[in-house]
Parts: sequence; structure tokens; C-alpha cells
Amino acid sequence: MTVSPGAPAPPGAVPAPTLGARVGPLPGWQVGTLVDAWEESASARTLVLAVPSWPGHLAGQHVDLRLRAPDGYVAERSYSIGGPVTRGPDGVPRIALTVQRVADGEVSTYLTDTFAVGYPVELRGPVGGWFVWAPDAVPAPGEPTPLPGPPVLLVAGGSGIVPLVAMVRERRRAGSRTPFRLVVSVRTPADRLFVEEVTRTGTDGVDVTVLYTRAAPLDDGSDEPGPARRDPGRMTPADLAAHGWPAELEPACFVCGPTPFVEAAAQMLLALGHDAARIRTERFGPAGD
Ligand SMILES: Cc1cc2nc3c(=O)[nH]c(=O)nc-3n(C[C@H](O)[C@H](O)[C@H](O)COP(=O)(O)OP(=O)(O)OC[C@H]3O[C@@H](n4cnc5c(N)ncnc54)[C@H](O)[C@@H]3O)c2cc1C
Repeated sequence: MTVSPGAPAPPGAVPAPTLGARVGPLPGWQVGTLVDAWEESASARTLVLAVPSWPGHLAGQHVDLRLRAPDGYVAERSYSIGGPVTRGPDGVPRIALTVQRVADGEVSTYLTDTFAVGYPVELRGPVGGWFVWAPDAVPAPGEPTPLPGPPVLLVAGGSGIVPLVAMVRERRRAGSRTPFRLVVSVRTPADRLFVEEVTRTGTDGVDVTVLYTRAAPLDDGSDEPGPARRDPGRMTPADLAAHGWPAELEPACFVCGPTPFVEAAAQMLLALGHDAARIRTERFGPAGD
């Protein structure tokens, strides 16, 4: 069944969307409002939601969104929270989500193409207590910043970078010195999300490697923020061995992306000697590359 989205809100008007408009404050659910949005790539859009009673969250957690069509049909999907909570000029808490447009996707196409500033949406969260990272809270005596924790390896396939960039942003917010390595697999340079942000100055201690499965950037030195130079292709154990942490350092590993990517990456980490207890995974959906 297809969710039929509401008409875009005219500028300055109070929108009257058909989706998300008939929401009551159901237990566990609340109403957020889209207050800002921008294109993060050609096929991904960041949505900033004002959520008056947001309780706070940990890096890596997600929200469930619920959309309702006029005929009563309900669609529910999960979206990772992309960073620490912020506050608008009105003091209302805000959270950011980044949605990758799936070509025939019911909800992602609505959220990337139609969901307009001013529209409400039902949500609940934060959800998930396993796929989370928090900086060590206690600074060393005389030190302004927390002690570094064990190294962290983040492995992202496509939009699976969203909860992982939330961890990078939380590291920066907290002034953490925990060493991070981020390995990102994307199809083409146009599909990169957040890579420029996490590689720019100010993220010292975060090593970023971008692997391309279909087309690498031009080899002209102008378009490659990461250190990787390899022919396009799926991530291999050699990539993770070269750009991840050695298993002996006992890093915390977080892997997120499409289901086949996550399963392959987790198997590679196990084969490289990483303990299963230190590998945490989050599967975004059934698609592969
Ligand atoms: C914990 C969690 C966190 C998530 N966080 C994010 C996030 O931060 N950003 C984000 O963009 N998505 C995220 N997802 C995926 C999201 O929940 C939806 O599955 C996705 O947006 C597709 O929904 P849809 O209604 O558009 O597609 P559907 O109508 O459900 O599916 C349409 C087609 O796309 C395929 N498909 C379904 N899901 C995916 C997918 N994830 N990737 C590729 N193909 C798919 C289906 O097999 C089907 O063929 C997350 C999922 C989980 C479980």
C-alpha cells in the first residue's frame, strides 16, 4: 500500500498535511515538528525535528517514526539520531535525522521529497541501548578532558554512517581523546555523507578511510578526503586489516549499514581476531550494494 503524502506547505502558512496530522499523544509517542532540512547528498536529506519533551539520548540511538495516511494506513520506520541534542531559539530540544532515499521506498521517499518544514510527525525514542557509545565521564586529575577510552572502530556501509557520525560528534562535543577509526564504504563519491566534516581539522584522533564500491574519485588529488587509494570494489578483510585497529588493542567495533554489508563486515572482524563480544552491529535493511 502506498502512503499518500500531504501537499507541501505554502511558505509562511500553517501546513495541513495528511500524514502525521491526525496524531494524538499516544503512550510512548510524541509529536515532533520539522523545523529545518537540507540535502546532505544527491539522495539523502537531513531533517531537524523540534521535539518539546525530548528526554535526551546517547550517540548511536534511534527514533521510530510513524506516518499515517488519510485511510488509516500506518507506516513505521526507524532512523538514527545524527548527533547530540541541540536547542532552537525557543529553547525546544531538536534532533537531526538523515534519511537516504530508497528508490521505491514508501517512507524514505516521503521524508526526502515531501515532508516540509512545519509538518508534524509522530515519533518515539530514544530507542536502543546496545549500539551506543559514550565518552568516559571522569577527567584525570588536573586534566580538562576525559581519559581516553579503548579505541573505537566504526565501519559504515552507505547511510549506516548516521549513528557512527553521531559517535564522532559526541566524541568532539565531550572533548574525548579516545582514538577513533572510521571506515566508510560507499558506491561513488556522490554518495558520501559527512566525510568532509569528519576529516576536517578539529577532529584530531579520528582517522577516516573511504572505500568506493562502484566508482572512485578522480585521481587528481582534489576530491579525496580519505587516505584510501584502491580500485573500486567491496570492502575486504585486507581493507579492515589496513584501516581498522589490530585485534590485540581490543577496540570496540560498531558496524552499521545494509544487512549483507553488516554481516560480511562482522565476519571479517571475527576472522581478523576481534572478539564477538566487542563487535556491535546495526542492520538498516535488506538491501545490499
Ligand atoms: C535501527 C535502524 C536505524 C536506521 N537508521 C536509518 C538512518 O539513519 N537513515 C536511513 O536512511 N535509514 C535508516 N534505517 C532504515 C529505515 O528504517 C528504512 O528501512 C529505510 O528508510 C527504507 O524505508 P522505506 O519505507 O523507504 O522502504 P520500504 O518501502 O520499506 O522498502 C522499499 C524497498 O527498499 C528495500 N529497503 C528497505 N530498507 C532499505 C534500506 N535501509 N536500504 C536499502 N534498501 C532498503 C526493501 O527491501 C524494498 O525493496 C534504519 C533502520 C533501522 C532498523
